[in-house]
Amino acid sequence: MADQTADQANEQTLDTAFFLRWLTTAAEAVEREADQLTELDSAIGDADHGSNLQRGFRAVTATLAEEPPASPGAVLALAGRRLISTVGGASGPLYGTLLRRTGKALGDAAEVTPAQLAEALRVGVAAVAQLGGARAGDKTMLDALEPAAGALGSSYATFATAARAARDGALATVPLQARKGRASYLGERSIGHQDPGATSSALLITALADTAEAPEDESR
Ligand code: ADP
Ligand code: MG
Repeated sequence: MADQTADQANEQTLDTAFFLRWLTTAAEAVEREADQLTELDSAIGDADHGSNLQRGFRAVTATLAEEPPASPGAVLALAGRRLISTVGGASGPLYGTLLRRTGKALGDAAEVTPAQLAEALRVGVAAVAQLGGARAGDKTMLDALEPAAGALGSSYATFATAARAARDGALATVPLQARKGRASYLGERSIGHQDPGATSSALLITALADTAEAPEDESR
């Protein structure tokens, strides 16, 4: 599908249903890619990243269906809490913090603009960096999240641009040596493998772009 123009994207307002569709789309991507994520984690970790996120996003989807939150910020905050409570690995608290802090930054508005979501995502990504003590270049999820947040910071960027930046960032982790997380225990042996968390982060931002592109009634 053709990318939206920046003008079209900036006119869109994002309501609670949009955020529910985003997380449902992300959960579907995790289901589809779980084996691949676990395979990446078997090379430089403990082979659980796909199953960790699958468990977490299944719980998120179930909770959002049972108790649908009233605002975009509440959707993300509830999803974040659920990820923290269901995912045991490092990625649970980190993704949980990303969604909780992004949600908190959105406040309780019933609709938000793409620019407000971009700003909130920057807050969420900064919270991940603070919690994990990592930065771009350390071969973690931040190698996808920071370029995505950075792309959204430029006023002409669309979510599709951010998704491309996240996917490029994930690919660019291959030659890096891990400096944070379990993969860092491997030292130089972590070089030559794509980081699982950067890969799943690219899925999350791609799901956001897909949600923004999809006609609303198509996914109902
Ligand atoms: P675990 O490493 O506990 O098994 P997962 O396999 O679910 O957890 O997630 C691993 C991913 O978490 C890594 O690929 C990396 O992207 C991310 N990660 C690990 N530690 C950090 C950190 N300190 N900061 C940011 N991301 C991290
Ligand atoms: Mg793991």
